[in-house]
Amino acid sequence: MSVAVSLESCVRSLSVKSECSKCKDVCGFEAINFNNYSVRIDASACTDCTACVGVCPSGAITLKESGLAALSADELFCVGVRAADMVVASAPKELEESCRLRVDEANALLECFSLEPKIKLDILDEEKKEPDDASRRALFKMFTKSGIKAAHESVKSEEEIVSTIDYTLLKSKKIPIKREFFLSVVEELELSDKSVALPLSFATDKFVDDSCDNCSLCYNLCPSGALETTSMKNAILFSPYLCLKCKLCEDVCATRSISSLPTFPLSEFKNRQKKLLKKFTVKLCGSCGAVFSGDGEECPRCSLENEDAMELLGL
Ligand code: SF4
Ligand code: SF4
Ligand code: SF4
Repeated sequence: MSVAVSLESCVRSLSVKSECSKCKDVCGFEAINFNNYSVRIDASACTDCTACVGVCPSGAITLKESGLAALSADELFCVGVRAADMVVASAPKELEESCRLRVDEANALLECFSLEPKIKLDILDEEKKEPDDASRRALFKMFTKSGIKAAHESVKSEEEIVSTIDYTLLKSKKIPIKREFFLSVVEELELSDKSVALPLSFATDKFVDDSCDNCSLCYNLCPSGALETTSMKNAILFSPYLCLKCKLCEDVCATRSISSLPTFPLSEFKNRQKKLLKKFTVKLCGSCGAVFSGDGEECPRCSLENEDAMELLGL
């Protein structure tokens, strides 16, 4: 198997509420499974098509060795910018729909930067995608004694991966290398129309409505640092160019206060500015001293604890 999952970078490792399933959804071979916080790739079902590598918003799925992988729309765009001639991307029939969307998006982006659409999609014929003898043998082996032993060993190694998560890295704010590359490529280009906005598969613009109670989950968990607060915790700030469209902020928001806007203004990739999404009046909790927003003298956590205590005492 040529792909590997780094759980430190997977957004499912940050919250059990994460609904990210982009890798599982794109896999045409049912090789990806979720188990609580972890993502597992079944080596006997994986065909090394690498479709999951390109769709992972946080760069958690990578190639074990250098080689060709299914590229995301932003990566295809970068290839298009750098290539002198037309680029032909190949895809098996099962992945035609998802690959066509990426190619169309990359070409639309090229046009926005006054460049010719340069990516062409070539669908591989049926015979080329049939599993070769080696992968057929691997599947068959799963039903023999050595296959069962190999299956146990693969589970053991998955457990080792889970137990070796570096939790310092898990909480660190980072953008994948592909975003760094995309930003460096865009920096050299000029937009044909500075106000152009497109729906993008790899970034979103955000909006926070008045139901937000400043619970802090979205900006604490945002893996890329696109969302943050101030030292006084009296605002939510947003850097659109860092957003990975992992949707973790929306998945963890209990009040459904944060949402994605349908299009992304491309100038944000060049301006790279923070914007104010929400401003709060804050005060110190009378019980624990934490900063909070809202009515009353106690923060939501202390209020909840008091309610629980009253319930336990039957008051
Ligand atoms: S696409 Fe990436 S971030 Fe999302 S569940 Fe899969 S590995 Fe995790
Ligand atoms: S937008 Fe939602 S998750 Fe973020 S601070 Fe407001 S209530 Fe909490
Ligand atoms: S702002 Fe939301 S969607 Fe964007 S990277 Fe942060 S958590 Fe993910």
